Amino acid sequence: MKIIMLGAPGAGKGTQAKKIAEKYGIPHVSTGDIFRANIKGGTELGKKAKSYMDQGQLVPDDVTIGMLLDRISQADCENGYVLDGFPRTIPQAKSLTDALNARGEKMDYAVDVDVPDEAIVTRMGGRRACVKCGATYHVAFNPPKAEGVCDACGDTLVLRDDDKPETVQKRLTVYHDQTQPLIDYYRNEGILVAVDGTKELNQVFTDIIAVLGA
Ligand code: ADP
Ligand code: AMP
Repeated sequence: MKIIMLGAPGAGKGTQAKKIAEKYGIPHVSTGDIFRANIKGGTELGKKAKSYMDQGQLVPDDVTIGMLLDRISQADCENGYVLDGFPRTIPQAKSLTDALNARGEKMDYAVDVDVPDEAIVTRMGGRRACVKCGATYHVAFNPPKAEGVCDACGDTLVLRDDDKPETVQKRLTVYHDQTQPLIDYYRNEGILVAVDGTKELNQVFTDIIAVLGA
């Protein structure tokens, strides 16, 4: 099963992608997580990505596309994967379609997690991320057992720099300009399914599984 998660930043793509990956036993591939791991590791790629991310802008396609295509060529992706945060531009989507076509493969579903902008601001302001393992929580909607501590690995939870209100607005503008057109792209490809992402997060997951028909 090869699935793309679409939706605004903060719509719940990562939350649902992790649950889908677990259910189907396939990797969760998040370009945001790969960039953050590179920033933490001080790599050249991380240095390049950081300035764009901090400003709420997209990392350029020439960096992002190669990185993602390399990742999905790895052995653990043989039986499928859930893409979270990629593609975010039409050129990224076309490169993915072309790379898969060249191998006689195609994506199975693009799941649009639909959440209006008003709800996004509350989602991102309350999001807390584990710096060590990448797990995400929400102070009100999905709190960790102990405040500020990751349930999974015990490390410290932080507010991501790009989740601060001034950057969130920029990211939403970038989403509407560059990423939202992908909804039509995948509708034209015949693989778009949409769910109401404003529901409680376990209900959103139930709705996704129902539309995937599995
Ligand atoms: P994305 O990967 O799309 O940027 P996340 O999955 O990180 O979004 O979710 C953004 C924030 O909203 C997180 O703090 C998460 O815990 C919370 N969240 C996710 N889904 C829901 C939901 N259905 N209802 C309320 N909060 C949610
Ligand atoms: P995310 O973790 O998906 O919210 O992504 C965080 C940030 O990483 C984004 O705001 C972008 O700056 C960058 N990023 C992640 N995925 C992509 C992508 N597919 N194309 C360009 N930039 C990306």
